[in-house]
Amino acid sequence: MNKKELGKFLENKPGYLKKGSNTLIELLAERGISLVGLTQSDVKQAIRQGLSKPRKSKKIRMLTYDIETSLVEAQLWGSGKQYVGHDSIITETQIITVAWKWIGDNEVKHLKWNMKKRNDRELVEEFLKEYNSADMVIGWNNNSFDNKIVHSRAMKYGLEVNTLVKSYDIMRQAKKVFRLPSYSMAYVSRYLGLAGKLSYGGGIKMWKDIQWGTKKSAKKAMKVMIAYNVQDVALTEEIYYKLRPYLGNVIHMGALQGKNKTLTCPHCGGDHIKLHKTSVTAAGTIQRTMVCKDDKVKFKISNTAYLKQL
Ligand SMILES: [Zn+2]
Repeated sequence: MNKKELGKFLENKPGYLKKGSNTLIELLAERGISLVGLTQSDVKQAIRQGLSKPRKSKKIRMLTYDIETSLVEAQLWGSGKQYVGHDSIITETQIITVAWKWIGDNEVKHLKWNMKKRNDRELVEEFLKEYNSADMVIGWNNNSFDNKIVHSRAMKYGLEVNTLVKSYDIMRQAKKVFRLPSYSMAYVSRYLGLAGKLSYGGGIKMWKDIQWGTKKSAKKAMKVMIAYNVQDVALTEEIYYKLRPYLGNVIHMGALQGKNKTLTCPHCGGDHIKLHKTSVTAAGTIQRTMVCKDDKVKFKISNTAYLKQL
C-alpha cells in the first residue's frame, strides 16, 4: 500500500484517527497491511490527508458514575489495632451497586449485583458497555477508587476494559487549586450549600444486611443503597458544574470534535473564547491564557498559536 492508498483508506475510518496512532497501527495490522516500507512521514501525511476532510461533529459521551463496594471479610485473633495480612483476607471487593448518568441525559441509571449469588459478574459485564464507550468518565476520587475497582473486576473476569480512559476526578482537580478543611464529597457539597449527600443512617448495617442478611433484609437494604448511589451521582454532577470553571482540563472537547484546538474551548468545544491574560515563563516564552465566554473555563495556548488565529 502506498501513502496515497493509505490516505484514501483512512478517509473512510475517521474514528480510528481520533484515537491516536496506536489504534492506527492496530487497524493496519488488523487489515493485514504491512508497515514495512511505510515511513513515519508517510503515515503522518496519510493521517493529514484523512483529517483534511471536514469531520462530522460527533456527540461527545461523558459519563458521571459512582460505585458502592462490598465489605471484605478477614479472619482475626481479636480486636484492637492490628495488621491484617493478605493471608487473613478471605473474600474480595465486589461492586454491589453502580449508578451513572450521561452528561446531557436526564436519567440516572443503576445496576445491582446478583442478589441471589451475591456476585457482581453480570453487573460488571453490563456496566463495561457504558464505561468502555465513554470519551471521558467523571467522578469523585474515581482515579484512585472507582476506576481502579472497575478495572480490577474486569480483569478478574477476563473482560475488556478501557484502562486508559480519560478521567476527570473532581476531587483530584479540586485539591490542585483549593485548600479546604476536608475533601469528602459530603463536606464539599455542604461548603457549596448544596442539598447534600444522604448520610448512611444505618452505618455498616446496610452492608451487613446486603451481604449476609436474610433475603428480606437484603432487599430492603439494597433499596436504600441504590437511593444513596443514585443521589451521589446526581450530586457529583452538580458539584462538577459548580467547580468546573475553576479547575483544569483533562481532555480538549474542541479537538475531540475535530475542531481547531487553539480556537475552541477544551470544556465545551465552543469558539466563544477571548484572551484572559498574557504571561511569560522564566525562559522568556510568552503564554496566553484564554477564557471561554460561555462556561468561564480557562486554558493556555502558545503565543505562536495565539498570533496565528488573529
Ligand atoms: Zn467553553
